[in-house]
Amino acid sequence: MLIDSHCHLDPTYLPSGPDDVLTRAKAAGVGTFVCIGVGRDLGAARAAVALAGQRHDVFATVGVHPHDAATTDEQAFDEIARLARQPRVVAVGEIGLDYHYDHSPRDVQKGVFRRMIALARELRKPIVIHTRSAAADTLSILEEEKARDVGGIIHCFSEDRAFAERAMALDFDLSFSGILTFKNAHAIREAARYAPADRIMVETDSPFLAPVPVRGKPCEPAYVVHTARCLAELRGESFDAVAQQTTMNAAKRLAFELPSG
Ligand SMILES: [Zn+2]
Ligand SMILES: [Zn+2]
Repeated sequence: MLIDSHCHLDPTYLPSGPDDVLTRAKAAGVGTFVCIGVGRDLGAARAAVALAGQRHDVFATVGVHPHDAATTDEQAFDEIARLARQPRVVAVGEIGLDYHYDHSPRDVQKGVFRRMIALARELRKPIVIHTRSAAADTLSILEEEKARDVGGIIHCFSEDRAFAERAMALDFDLSFSGILTFKNAHAIREAARYAPADRIMVETDSPFLAPVPVRGKPCEPAYVVHTARCLAELRGESFDAVAQQTTMNAAKRLAFELPSG
């Protein structure tokens, strides 16, 4: 069974609830879901924690996305810190830097990123990183803030092999999304081909970035199967081997027991 190591299942994206997409995912062979609790307000974080409390096959993360860095107030930071302590919250994230959209000023993004790393270190929980067009600053901040103490995941890995090596040296694993299946993703595919077997995961980042052959559709966790198949082909390994390895890696990194049945 596969793990979708990064999906968004909150009411912003699934107004009628996540049950249908999770049922379809189970039927496709996806057994466990890491539900990311970030958003413009606290709704997504609360929903992720509630869902993980209701379902044995869902785990949650909470954090402040770089897009929301400028609009998160002290009261919200307090509640995120409180939610992050919950036992089924397996990581702090997604946090990081996004210089592609620049929805928040860069200095504010950096400050919030540092603050969230400090929270993860305090709670001894791993970190889920979002980085876009900000590779150098992301790596410097991870180093400066001693993120290695907790390690984590570079989600939706979209950088090159050199970045992958530096991130892995800081104890961050690589999670590949549907972008891996895009034919022009040469640098990402090269990183995927050469990454050690114990450092790779797969995710959908649903509802975004549906993989080939469902590209352009709203993405859902069932589609992580396509990304896993692509990863297996790139690495010259069997689908089953990649499924087993990525599942083991995610469970180990996020320190959860795989649900049985
Ligand atoms: Zn992201
Ligand atoms: Zn995401």
